[in-house]
Amino acid sequence: MNDCIFCKIIGGEIPAKPVYECEDFIIINDVNPIAPKHYLLLPRNHYATLAEMNGTDAEILGRALKTVSGLQKELGLENGYRLVINQGADAGQSVLHLHIHILAGTEMSFTVD
Ligand code: 5GP
Ligand code: ZN
Repeated sequence: MNDCIFCKIIGGEIPAKPVYECEDFIIINDVNPIAPKHYLLLPRNHYATLAEMNGTDAEILGRALKTVSGLQKELGLENGYRLVINQGADAGQSVLHLHIHILAGTEMSFTVD
C-alpha cells in the first residue's frame, strides 16, 4: 500500500491538482488521457480491486456515481460520458488502487479489442 501511486497522490506525497475533492474521494486528470476529457475518480481508502470491498465499503461506489452525475457541468460532461472500471489482468488494470475512469468530450465507439 505504501508504494501505491494513487495513495501517494491522495496523501499529497505526489503533487496533483484535483478537479474535485470530498471526504470519500478525489477526482484528477489522467496523466495519459485517451479522450479529450479523461478523469480518474480515486477513493481515498485503498482497495486494490473490487473484490477487496465488503458490502459496506462498496456503498462508496454508489456515492461516487451520484457525485459524478452531479458534476456534469463542472467537468464538462453535459454531452455524455463513460465510466470504466478496469478489473484485473484481462481488463488491463495497471494501478492496483480501485479507480473509476470518467471519459468524455467526444463520440465514443464501444468495442473490445
Ligand atoms: P488502469 O489501467 O489501472 O485502469 O488505469 C490506470 C490509469 O492511471 C491510466 O489511465 C494511467 O494513465 C493513469 N495513471 C497512472 N499513473 C498516474 C499518475 O501518476 N497520475 C495520474 N494523474 N494518472 C496516472
Ligand atoms: Zn492506494
